[in-house]
Amino acid sequence: MKWLNGYKIRLVLLGVGLVVMLTGGKANAGSGAIEITVLYDNYTLTEGCTTHWGFVCIIEGTEKCILFDTGANGSILLGNMDKLQVSAGDVELVVISHNHADHTGGLLSFLGRNNNVAAYLPLTVSSGFVQNVRSRGATAQLPTDVVQICEGAHLTGLMGGIEQSMVLETPKGLVVITGCAHPGIVQIVQKAKQMFAKDVYFVFGGFHLVNDSDSQIRSKIGQFRSMGVQKVGASHCTGDRAIALFEQEYGNDFVPIGVGQLTIPVAYDLNGDGIVDSADMGIMVDHWQTKEPSCDIAPGLFGDGIVDVQDLILLADHLFEDVNDPTLVAHWTLDDTEGDIAYDSTGTNFAFVIGGAVWQPSGGQVDGALQLDGVDDCAITGSISNPTEGPFSVLVWVKGGASGQAVLSQMGGVRWLCADPSEGNLMTELKGAGRGSAELLSQTVITDGNWHRIGLVWDGSHRTLYVDDVAVAQDEQTNLEASENGLYIGAGTAMEAGSFFSGLIDDVRIYNRAVTP
Ligand SMILES: [Zn+2]
Ligand SMILES: [Zn+2]
Repeated sequence: MKWLNGYKIRLVLLGVGLVVMLTGGKANAGSGAIEITVLYDNYTLTEGCTTHWGFVCIIEGTEKCILFDTGANGSILLGNMDKLQVSAGDVELVVISHNHADHTGGLLSFLGRNNNVAAYLPLTVSSGFVQNVRSRGATAQLPTDVVQICEGAHLTGLMGGIEQSMVLETPKGLVVITGCAHPGIVQIVQKAKQMFAKDVYFVFGGFHLVNDSDSQIRSKIGQFRSMGVQKVGASHCTGDRAIALFEQEYGNDFVPIGVGQLTIPVAYDLNGDGIVDSADMGIMVDHWQTKEPSCDIAPGLFGDGIVDVQDLILLADHLFEDVNDPTLVAHWTLDDTEGDIAYDSTGTNFAFVIGGAVWQPSGGQVDGALQLDGVDDCAITGSISNPTEGPFSVLVWVKGGASGQAVLSQMGGVRWLCADPSEGNLMTELKGAGRGSAELLSQTVITDGNWHRIGLVWDGSHRTLYVDDVAVAQDEQTNLEASENGLYIGAGTAMEAGSFFSGLIDDVRIYNRAVTP
């Protein structure tokens, strides 16, 4: 985003936003806000709630309020509802995923508090069970196939003769909720995709992988990736080992599940410059009234499919806060002052500085920077997240350099960011695996001796190069070649002569999301 261009327009629109805010824009904030609270699980996120084998969650903000499963024990369910201040009286629909006691056991106690509900039971329950539900005053249906239970909420129908799962349509994509996933978690996600031909944003519940070996679990996680599942919350009967492996693989996209309100962290720092400020508000205003997912941050867990005042209010609530961005996977501030190690602000990906590169504590664009001599200086890091696994972004400040020099390269792989050999224009060699995919070259010089913030963003379908937050080259790229090696900051893929950067490098950031600079 270019702040100076259209500055007045943005100021006016921001003003409009602020006026709406001050005149009661918040009154709308609840509309369409989907919130999910887990009420029963063998894990908890909330002190004082009871854990017990079983599963229940409540979905609020959909057309009708839905209780999914009822746990094993009614008094534990009702106790957790009280503790979490969730009202049984709000529930309009009750779904039972399958006829196992850890999912059905709390139903009659629940109906004792609120019988004004429509229950969707699996075909496998006994006729006595159905009679019990009806005699308590609720209606009971036993769907045989895919069924819509209210706007945006659907059941898969009984799969494998044992279990039905729920699929929500949200602005961020499909959300799949499972009880135990006895028919197979992968098969359930496939069914959801087949029902709607839409992307799967989030899958959570019990995955039932306790009897799977590590390699079987890994293969299922791989299938999740290839089905495009963006976020995962594995709980209940998944098994501790499978939960750990999903968490390891999905990293910041693993959503912890346990008794309590479910939260999915939001990236407020839209342009990835390390601060939530007016530039981020400007980006939001640039996408005003569109459905740009990175800006549709409110209301509720999944937004509402439109960038509007609710999003601006939420962003404003987080202005100037310390950025704790869950999608930032590596960040070398290059603000160190001495020694041979460049620390990573996100944790453990420190880089070794070699060749006698000189720290410039007050010479950077963001505090200090690292000065490289163009002969043999660079920084070497271990393996960072594989860019092929989902959207990613890399942003770097540079000053100086010359044609043919590299800013960031993968060992034995390709140059992620470099100056092209003839003009010093920004280019990337990171490309798709297929035949015919090539490097992407911009027409924007980065070696003119001024500071430039350069970046490469891959959003899963497009590759875009940025210079000073302006897109300078873009093409379609549906995948990127896999590569898991370490990186060279300021050198080519084999530290070859002529590839070393001569100038200042500052603030190297890698995100596992598509940043909007
Ligand atoms: Zn279960
Ligand atoms: Zn079960």
